Amino acid sequence: MGIEQDIQNFNRLPSNTKADFGILFDVDGVIARGTQALEPAKRMIKELCDEQNNLKVPIAFVTNACNRTADKARQISNWLDLEIKPEYMMHAQSPLSVFHKYHDKHVLVVGQGHIHDIAKELGFKNTCSIDDVKEAYPLLDMVDHANRRKVAQGYIEKEFPKIDAVVVFGEPNRWESNLQLLIDLILTNGLPTHASDKIPSPEEQLPILAANMDLVFMAEACMPRFGNGSFLVCLEALYKKITGHELQYKALVGKPCELTFRYAEHVIQQHAKALGITRPIEKLYFIGDNPLVDIFGANMYNQYIHHIRKTSNSNYVNGDVLDNVNSNMNTSKTTNGYIAPMSRQIPPEADFDEQTVLDCEGILVGTGVYKPTKNNFNGEAKSMHQVHRDIEKRPDFCIPRHFADDVHKAILYILKKQHFVV
Ligand SMILES: [Mg+2]
Repeated sequence: MGIEQDIQNFNRLPSNTKADFGILFDVDGVIARGTQALEPAKRMIKELCDEQNNLKVPIAFVTNACNRTADKARQISNWLDLEIKPEYMMHAQSPLSVFHKYHDKHVLVVGQGHIHDIAKELGFKNTCSIDDVKEAYPLLDMVDHANRRKVAQGYIEKEFPKIDAVVVFGEPNRWESNLQLLIDLILTNGLPTHASDKIPSPEEQLPILAANMDLVFMAEACMPRFGNGSFLVCLEALYKKITGHELQYKALVGKPCELTFRYAEHVIQQHAKALGITRPIEKLYFIGDNPLVDIFGANMYNQYIHHIRKTSNSNYVNGDVLDNVNSNMNTSKTTNGYIAPMSRQIPPEADFDEQTVLDCEGILVGTGVYKPTKNNFNGEAKSMHQVHRDIEKRPDFCIPRHFADDVHKAILYILKKQHFVV
């Protein structure tokens, strides 16, 4: 009996009228490929709506891309033929909106495209770009030979306020210039007017917040392409080579980090309230096409949930989360006893709704990165070296609890499992 037949049968069963679960969707490889919607996505959204086309289950979209949220929400709305509000659309950088203490600081934003608009959307009020730094300090960028020739003909140094923090939204262009200027800023604590005679301690280092650690991504080319994770590897390696110290991050956000999933739970809770759901959301599903990012993240968040629940119930503290994480990392326990590198901690100023989810289940689909005929889940273990330095190497986290051919079949599986009738 096929799953469609199963669904017709369980539709006759009594059901809960309000959902106590939420569904998170990765976008590329699940809802669309590039700019083209996938056909099963159009069918699946109808399963979640009543006859008046009103959604009955809280949902949100979680991508590691970096765009303006309203633009992406509009694109997904067109693909699904259903209005998706920007507040239910998460990009890699979205959790940076809870780092309130940096929002009034002078922040250098790194990336391409609408980076200042994106920073403003997140709450950053005072931003500058690497080009502003280059212009203010014309003698710094000597890896650009054209700049050497320009400077030889004369230059003017400008007054430029100290930079208080760096936010990396995505890989910039002209990596060599960006790497040089970023190292200069870190070594001088944001004011590269003169060389500092000491290397900053991890506690004193210029705060760096980075979104999206994906080393590579699949585009139209026959091989994977460099992602922002590749740029960060270069920055980390250069900093370590020059100073002998590990580069410290105040935050790493985007899948698979816990903060992104914690934020996504909050977004689902907001959507549930908007749908008139008053019961707590106890189950989260994450539908993704990439075992190393989506499924890994869902499993890591599930581990986080279980750790903090054990801790709050019995003061249980377990340090094994740190297995295989670089032992030089600056680590600490949260108030809940969860141990992770500083870069992956949930900031205390995060004003999230209360954490209610008891279980997070990753569902893998075969319409994107993962090829069911080619890969097997254990094959992902061979790529463990590709995950970011601050994330533990856990091949078992790549294994989904369920595999579905496409997102429509994934939704039918969820509705059946939840005994939910729209
Ligand atoms: Mg994807």
